[in-house]
Amino acid sequence: MSDSITKTHDVVIVGAGFAGLYALYRMKEMGLSAIVLERGDGIGGTWHWNRYPGARCDVESLQYSYSFSDEVQQEWKWSERFASQGEILRYIHFVADKFGLRKFVELNTGVVAATYDDDDAMWTTRTADGRLLRTRYIIFATGCLSVPIEPDIPGLDRFAGNIYRTSTWPKTPVDFTGRRVAVVGTGSSGIQAVPVIALEARHLFVLQRTPNYSIPGRNSPMDQEYEADWKRNYAQRRQAALQTRSSNLFNAGTIPGREVSAEDREREFERRWEAGGLGFTYCYPDITMDPDVNKHASEFVRRKVAQKVKDPKVAASLVPTEYGIGGRRLCVDNGYYETFNRDNVTMVDLRNEPLLGMTQGGFATQRGEYEIDDLVLATGFDAFTGALNRIDVRGRAGVSLREKWADGPANYLGLTVTGFPNMFTVTGPGSPSVLSNVVISIQQHVDWITECLEFLRQHGRTTIEAKPESEEAWGRHIAGIAEGTLISKTKSWYTGTNVTGKTNRYFLYMGGTVRYLQEINQAGRESGYSGFTIG
Ligand code: NAP
Repeated sequence: MSDSITKTHDVVIVGAGFAGLYALYRMKEMGLSAIVLERGDGIGGTWHWNRYPGARCDVESLQYSYSFSDEVQQEWKWSERFASQGEILRYIHFVADKFGLRKFVELNTGVVAATYDDDDAMWTTRTADGRLLRTRYIIFATGCLSVPIEPDIPGLDRFAGNIYRTSTWPKTPVDFTGRRVAVVGTGSSGIQAVPVIALEARHLFVLQRTPNYSIPGRNSPMDQEYEADWKRNYAQRRQAALQTRSSNLFNAGTIPGREVSAEDREREFERRWEAGGLGFTYCYPDITMDPDVNKHASEFVRRKVAQKVKDPKVAASLVPTEYGIGGRRLCVDNGYYETFNRDNVTMVDLRNEPLLGMTQGGFATQRGEYEIDDLVLATGFDAFTGALNRIDVRGRAGVSLREKWADGPANYLGLTVTGFPNMFTVTGPGSPSVLSNVVISIQQHVDWITECLEFLRQHGRTTIEAKPESEEAWGRHIAGIAEGTLISKTKSWYTGTNVTGKTNRYFLYMGGTVRYLQEINQAGRESGYSGFTIG
């Protein structure tokens, strides 16, 4: 198709996940004409793509859901404590239908470029099929974990069996019955998929490079009384969640672990282990900061795993010793460790037998060759910047975002970028994003953007752009908070070390969501957008 301007809107929104759909809802509510461009063949973002066996959210569904509409909160019924991928996707479709959003979403429409025109302060967005859209504003709702990395496993194309990726799982269920399967990767995705695949496979090899800490999920069917209680008190619960560091009610402890006895700490770890879920690391505010408390919590998990896994060598392989709990994203599982007690499951610890690569009929390590029929890659994402970097985004004077961010992302508030007027990123780098209840963070960002556009409209202005000094100060600010934290000292996708050549930078605001919200509100309406140039 030849390049032609097919449509002009006020706003183009890239991505139709939780963020893009809520942005669309708010733009329509404001009376702006908006369109969402989505590269997938369905809405739902992460929950559209990641349909691997066992995929579910590890934040309770009553919290990991939109809070903007009490009608939705009351009407929707979650069937489990932690909803499965399928149920979350059905929920997103339900919300889209309820608010008539679907007709403003163009599916199968990848965005390849977006260019700002200085002369008329308009953005031109180019789609993969060669169409051009002209809009005043552009909102990137492209997600933090939406670009899978292709692992550098030699001979992947040599392997004659099936290759599945957790991040782009086929829509039709895969039947592993009677098959020999290898799963590469033991992050949250691999840890969720392994117990389910093990139930079907003739044999399952789990290829682990770095172990992660995982806490039992204790998932269960939704307790009717628990749900009713939440629904009666939703407004207060949501409000209370906003007072926490991650906008999540994890019953966070306030007394530092170093101030209590080792026996009390042990009891508290036990209580939280039994309760299950991510709340484990919310027991003490200093769990990742005080070396003794961190060591105690890490050893507690090690002991638990040793009790669960019959083979002491496998148990020892399964728990990290090179970093403490909380340095990487904590995993939540449903029977992961126990899976290694099955006769049809083999742990392949790549630290002891490095992976040489794929063969035609399987894989080879330094120890020997293994025959398999299917390979499952649960090898992670180019987080935070991956999705934006693969679009050719150009701001004032043709400056490329990719080039500007070559040494790591620079932006203001995680929401705007100097030199890129009228461009907004939802849960962009430099914001709490994945360290928070991300659905709530999405709403806060979209609400901020909506308020900003209202401000421009009320004042008869058309452009807004972060001042260079605001961006510089924000970069220093988030680096100052992150400096010395366990996360910033640990190799993981949080720090970009999982992607070859990616600069190890601060991609996250680590000061907690309460402080963050105060900061963005202060930088926004409360100061009359003083850190921005309004044109
Ligand atoms: P991940 O945490 O980055 O894990 C990727 C895994 O693949 C790691 O074990 C990594 O090993 C391994 N790997 C990568 N390349 C490899 C190679 N060439 N050879 C061998 N191993 C290789 O990715 P993820 O599991 O998809 O999870 C990403 C994030 O998504 C999570 O942390 C979480 O925030 C989110 N998520 C959430 C849920 C949920 O809510 N339940 C579920 C899934 C994902 P190394 O560690 O050695 O690099």
